[in-house]
Amino acid sequence: MAKKKKIQSAPPKKGKLKKKRTFKFRKFLLFCLLVFLMVHYRSQLSAIILDSLPGQFSQDSTQTKNTTARQKTGETKSFVKISPQGATLYAQADDTSSQLGTVNVGEIVTFLDQVGDYYHITTNHQSTGYVSKTQATLFSQTIHATPNSLKQAVIVLNPGHGGDDVGALSNDENYYEKDVTLSTAKVVKKALEAAGATVILTRDFDETESLDSITQKSMEEQADVFISFHFDSTDYANMASGVTTYYYYYTYQNLAETINDQLTDLLPLENRGVEYGDFEVIRETTQPSLLLELGYMNNDSDLQTILTTSYQNKVAKAIVNGLTQYFSQTNN
Ligand SMILES: [Zn+2]
Repeated sequence: MAKKKKIQSAPPKKGKLKKKRTFKFRKFLLFCLLVFLMVHYRSQLSAIILDSLPGQFSQDSTQTKNTTARQKTGETKSFVKISPQGATLYAQADDTSSQLGTVNVGEIVTFLDQVGDYYHITTNHQSTGYVSKTQATLFSQTIHATPNSLKQAVIVLNPGHGGDDVGALSNDENYYEKDVTLSTAKVVKKALEAAGATVILTRDFDETESLDSITQKSMEEQADVFISFHFDSTDYANMASGVTTYYYYYTYQNLAETINDQLTDLLPLENRGVEYGDFEVIRETTQPSLLLELGYMNNDSDLQTILTTSYQNKVAKAIVNGLTQYFSQTNN
């Protein structure tokens, strides 16, 4: 705005040359202003909150693009994130209408439209209804069509825990979960890269990561698949053994099963199956997400196995195989 005023208060032109220069200068200032506005506007859009938009969700927001390398092929979709207190699902856009149930804390649900002070949504459990805008936030995220091969995929790997958060301990307390998740994720990264994928680790050294920053990374990088690595623990030593694959969104149950079939085939530990798991890193993201518990830290026999390079290589092979299969299925 300041720049615009300057243009208007330019001194009166004397002669053709001066007129031409002033004109050029004004054009230049206008250009600067345009560039500034474009840059400023773009930076505001990565996780835009559209609460203030009146009525039906604006089609213009589909133009919103993220700043990653793949921005040209993405489509921006709108989602509703349920508040940290959860939300009540109503049959109508009215809190006196019948209550259909509650929607889980932090769940990201499908946005249909907005009616007055309510969002019309479909939940993870495929229930459709209305939640109050006071219990949810509308936002947009660029979503890509799932690639049909691992070579075109961006995979975000999260080595669970880190820094002050050591995770589970071995029975002798000499081994921390945060170190085993990191070494495993690094081996998996190498194998996925060798298969042609683009791989991003949410951390590649011993640092504390907030769960929020992990989910943000998976969305910023527009992960085609996000995998969080963990190792389990029980209250008492040597009480349980084996591997579990968790998903939060039912849409990704098939992805979980595809990966888990490979883990079952290739790993020497017992497979405990695929389960729904209410974990923040796989709940509060718009990207296809899984959480793997790859053995028990406080089971002496599991620990001996999971610390070996041979085991971590098998995990890597299972994930490469599973993802290769997943991507080849998707677009066919
Ligand atoms: Zn863990």
